Amino acid sequence: MIQIKIDIVGGSIAGMSTAIALKENNPSLDVVVHEKHKKIGYNREGRRCGEAHSIEEEWSKWIPEKNSIFNHITRGEVTIGNKKIITDVEENTGFVLNRQEFVCQLARRAEELGTVIKTNDKINSINDLEGNYIIDASGCPSFIKKELGLKKGLTGLSYQQTLENSNFFDPHTVKFFASEKNGYFWIFPRNPKKTEINIGIFLFSNQTHKCKNLLEEFKEENKIKGDVNYITGGLIPVGLNRPFKYKNILFVGDSAVGTFPYTGQGIYRALLSGDVAGTCIANGIAHKYPRIINQMFLKWDLIGKSIILFNKGLTKINPKLVLTTDRYFSSYVQLTH
Ligand SMILES: Cc1cc2nc3c(=O)[nH]c(=O)nc-3n(C[C@H](O)[C@H](O)[C@H](O)COP(=O)(O)OP(=O)(O)OC[C@H]3O[C@@H](n4cnc5c(N)ncnc54)[C@H](O)[C@@H]3O)c2cc1C
Repeated sequence: MIQIKIDIVGGSIAGMSTAIALKENNPSLDVVVHEKHKKIGYNREGRRCGEAHSIEEEWSKWIPEKNSIFNHITRGEVTIGNKKIITDVEENTGFVLNRQEFVCQLARRAEELGTVIKTNDKINSINDLEGNYIIDASGCPSFIKKELGLKKGLTGLSYQQTLENSNFFDPHTVKFFASEKNGYFWIFPRNPKKTEINIGIFLFSNQTHKCKNLLEEFKEENKIKGDVNYITGGLIPVGLNRPFKYKNILFVGDSAVGTFPYTGQGIYRALLSGDVAGTCIANGIAHKYPRIINQMFLKWDLIGKSIILFNKGLTKINPKLVLTTDRYFSSYVQLTH
């Protein structure tokens, strides 16, 4: 029997969910994850995120283990100008993750199923890989798309601080505030033991240098206090960034499906896209991957992106729309042969 090998570049959320789906669907596949950092989870990307994670009921398999959860989210709050919408979040569908532990949780599952995980293994060119399929789970910007000269897609910039001992710690509520500068701020409750929050800004533009100043102004205006103990940020892909497949390469997570246009949620999309890519390859239907991804995300992305492009400043948007487009996002598509 011919042994089919799959090389996965990137040992974070999308890479691990792909490995799990491959091995769950076809244990005989030879699956290797290549991660450039020394340690899975506990690297720069391990905390390069606001860490809010929400799922839909049918994807309950992505409910994090206890150790991977800092907080359960039960309320969402969106403020746009002087309009505010508060919504309840269904039980056990919203979390603030201990993302490092969550990535490790996924890696343990992938390893139990027989995936080989190679750390300290930076891939510099796809020519160095010999697999029948290559999974690009290298995040944003994707180094493979760069090497192949493929399109980058719409991206925005983010900057985030983690504040300890914060007067704004609200254990179960995630808050978003539209900014007139064409972007938004967020406040998420992090580690309760330290009354910690993640507070950040996302701009639909390339003005990195402005992010920090705007965040400081926002903190001052709202009298948000706390000791900064961690700073992160970087590019956030806005919605779908095609292609999803190129020859024998399938792009997952930030390298292709990006994040939800309003709330920057990419964790769920990374998990879903990896799951679909892995299931497709394992069942011999890799060619169907782009169509399934389109079916899952296209509608909401089109609505989200058009509003962003045609309504700069976000101030005219109804906050309800933000919640609708970013909560009821995917329709689960049953994979068949
Ligand atoms: C500041 C910020 C806040 C965010 N907040 C949220 C949030 O609250 N909720 C949410 O859902 N999403 C959030 N996101 C988005 C979320 O972080 C991403 O969508 C998600 O991490 C994508 O996962 P991924 O596995 O595709 O990529 P990544 O998590 O970026 O992982 C890519 C992996 O590939 C490895 N790698 C890269 N190049 C190579 C190479 N050449 N060889 C080997 N390995 C390589 C990297 O080391 C890394 O481990 C945020 C992002 C940022 C920047």
